[in-house]
Amino acid sequence: QPVAIVCVGMAGSGKTTFMQRINSHLHTNKEPPYVINLDPAVRNVPFESNIDIRDSVNYKEVMKSYNLGPNGGILTSLNLFATKIDQILTLLEKRTTPDPAKPTVKPIKNILVDTPGQIEVFVWSASGAILLDSLASTFPTVIAYIIDTPRTASTSTFMSNMLYACSILYKTKLPMILVFNKTDVKDAEFAKEWMTDFEAFQAALREEEEAGSFGGLEGGSGGLGGGSGYMGSLLNSMSLMLEEFYSHLSVVGVSSMTGAGVDEFFAAVDEKAQEFERDYKPELERRK
Ligand code: GDP
Ligand code: MG
Repeated sequence: QPVAIVCVGMAGSGKTTFMQRINSHLHTNKEPPYVINLDPAVRNVPFESNIDIRDSVNYKEVMKSYNLGPNGGILTSLNLFATKIDQILTLLEKRTTPDPAKPTVKPIKNILVDTPGQIEVFVWSASGAILLDSLASTFPTVIAYIIDTPRTASTSTFMSNMLYACSILYKTKLPMILVFNKTDVKDAEFAKEWMTDFEAFQAALREEEEAGSFGGLEGGSGGLGGGSGYMGSLLNSMSLMLEEFYSHLSVVGVSSMTGAGVDEFFAAVDEKAQEFERDYKPELERRK
């Protein structure tokens, strides 16, 4: 059974580099994937893609002819591309089922999708939703949420990033893997600890507060992690919600640079694909 892996994440988190890494991993294992690039504004794609949005829409031309800025250009390009989704699904279905006439051609097991750097343009647009829903109604589909680990090492950015991931989970309603990328620069153990042990997270908050990294956020004592004051009590109430959120996720640390953690990532994909069949598919059927 094929699975679609959709990479989302903030600009610069390493989506494209990660795509390149898992693509070459699958090639090495003689399981070449089907690769789709949905970023119309990317200059160089470091991997060979089977479908590239840039082949059917010219982002620069779209900006010019509709008199749009960069975000509007990306959104309009996605809208234009979404009108072709039926053709794309037909192609995908053909490539993922065995062809009796061509017994030597192996059906494709993995569909990899790279998305625009401006994450909200994809996750919060009608065409993004159409593309995702169409994929998910045809294949088990998992979201790989790519995180720039070195830039998420402070408690406040970590928290913001998790809340953002949470909003994407509820928006897409698809199983999600948190991919802590760039572990060659910063190990992801701290994140795993914060996600399993809220006390540890609160201790880190207090530490950062004492070190003065929250200067100005809240005056006086209280502070972010102190358990007193507005931010402290907000955090404490959020902890329950986050605990519930974390329990639905798979978490892996990878380095797209060195390839560390890629096997763990694919193990998580297997797990989430099964979860999709078991929990998400019945829900999708109900919503139809
Ligand atoms: P995207 O905007 O999410 O597609 O991010 P890119 O894949 O273009 O990567 C953004 C920057 O992060 C580039 O300079 C990459 O070389 C760098 N990068 C990506 N993955 C890694 C990694 O695992 N380790 C390190 N050190 N740098 C990385
Ligand atoms: Mg990219």
